Amino acid sequence: MLVTRERKASEAESLRRLGKRVMTDMLKNAFYGVLRHGGVYHVSRQKQKNRVLILTYHGVLKNGSDSYINRNCVSAEMFEQQMRWLKRHYTIMPLGDIVEALRRGEPLPEYTAAITFDDGFRNNFTVAYPILVRYNIPATIFLITDMTDQPGARLWTDHVDAIIFRANVRRLQLQMNGTLAEFDISSPQAKIQASDRIRGFLKTLNPQERDRHILSLERQIDREIDLLEDEESRERYEFLSWDEVRLMAEHQIEFGSHTRSHAIIAHLSPAELENELLVSKRRIEEQLGKPCRLFSYPNGTPRDFSIRDQKVLQQAGYTAAVSQIYGFNTYDTDFYALRRINIVRSPSFSYFLAKVTGVWGRLREWTRN
Ligand SMILES: [Zn+2]
Repeated sequence: MLVTRERKASEAESLRRLGKRVMTDMLKNAFYGVLRHGGVYHVSRQKQKNRVLILTYHGVLKNGSDSYINRNCVSAEMFEQQMRWLKRHYTIMPLGDIVEALRRGEPLPEYTAAITFDDGFRNNFTVAYPILVRYNIPATIFLITDMTDQPGARLWTDHVDAIIFRANVRRLQLQMNGTLAEFDISSPQAKIQASDRIRGFLKTLNPQERDRHILSLERQIDREIDLLEDEESRERYEFLSWDEVRLMAEHQIEFGSHTRSHAIIAHLSPAELENELLVSKRRIEEQLGKPCRLFSYPNGTPRDFSIRDQKVLQQAGYTAAVSQIYGFNTYDTDFYALRRINIVRSPSFSYFLAKVTGVWGRLREWTRN
């Protein structure tokens, strides 16, 4: 009886939260729509015309639902709409060519942009690539080379999400810095909060410790996790093969390194750092028969890399590295901390426009101050 009442209360709570989220999304979309029709994006875009816009994508999905799990993916439909708009308004160049021009101080066209993808998911080939070809748009894909090397490999962050979202238990426990923390995972909203906190904590650990914690989570749930269990999951989580990489490399797609294992490099020892940066570079060069000069920091916030890491990148022969710091690039931007704009799932095209024209960043600054 008590359990039923408790469950009913938790279901009502999830519904209330869902309703609130839908309302917030509708308000947000309406707000960005008003800015669009007021011409705000047009003016902001003109202000950025002499700065280079670099976009970050992860996955592009034909079949993915509009869920938290797919938050870093865009739909094929939205991706095509975005590419069509970018092609009309920007000169889209390979990132490598932009970096060379910036480094030499050579002029770039007004409204220059580059398209990049992090992680090297297979959907970049099956879903995004045909659209890029249709619009004749070059792009850069940053590979996690251990994933490209092992068919069936999966990213640990995706695996942790799957443990939390597919489990039928209501609680999970995790040893965090000497204390046993308990996480409610009884509703979709609770799962989101637990996932954010657990992944955030695990990112601070070294790979061995992290895997030990993941194993302990796996032991607490009621089922085996096969991340690639159905077609929708395979489209979301599978990585590119070297055959697919080589094929795209002949047609306007360049490849850079995103480390070997997606390690957050600020936490690595000098030997581990060298291994992540040099082995991945060599692997890409062996497979493609040309130099690999671009790097993308896993996670990419200012906390995830240091001056030490930037020096090692430079010594290893990388000419530039992209971060996940929001912003545009000029000749004065640090070439080992280039700014990018991360495009996430959103039902509204106006939200995309707010991000790429710089309005989103301005609003964020105002609301922070
Ligand atoms: Zn990544």
